[in-house]
Amino acid sequence: LGPDRAAEVRALVRDVPDYPHPPVVFRDITPLLADGGAFGDVIEAFADLAEAHGGIDVVAGMEARGFLLGAPLATRLGVGFVPLRKAGKLPPPVERVDYELEYGSASIELRTGTLRPGSRVLLVDDVLATGGTARAAATLVERCGAVVAGLAFLLELAGLGGRERLAGRTVDTLLRAE
Ligand code: AMP
Repeated sequence: LGPDRAAEVRALVRDVPDYPHPPVVFRDITPLLADGGAFGDVIEAFADLAEAHGGIDVVAGMEARGFLLGAPLATRLGVGFVPLRKAGKLPPPVERVDYELEYGSASIELRTGTLRPGSRVLLVDDVLATGGTARAAATLVERCGAVVAGLAFLLELAGLGGRERLAGRTVDTLLRAE
């Protein structure tokens, strides 16, 4: 996305103060998804990133909004899509990684055998906040013997330590918010 188009796309992400509770500012991407031109430009921008990573074998998306961005990207690239799901959604057998949240903990799962060892995976999600979810997702992919070629996010929330938590990995974000 060039700077002008990025500003237009950014304006389609709605900032909702104090949702789901203070002091969170929720970033709602549904207006962007509802705009066909903007949605298409975002998928093209992700595809450019994926091609710059020198060949992606599979796109993996984090539940739930990572599915909305990752699945069209996978079909655009002509590769498969793997959903990384919250605990208890997938039938067994699954691989699982537990991780800490600000309040409590969470788990992320994928079906055993979905990723081939050595395959190059692009991880996709809508928002990079603390990076905890993405780090767990990367760990899960690597536990399956696959390679995390990169992590791509629509919107990076600066100042929450996401990039630091993903240090040493290839992280790309299309938009930034302070
Ligand atoms: P984190 O693990 O802290 O980087 O949080 C990232 C995950 O939580 C992503 O799956 C996001 O969809 C979601 N998320 C975190 N913060 C926000 C926010 N302010 N607005 C929308 N989604 C968020």
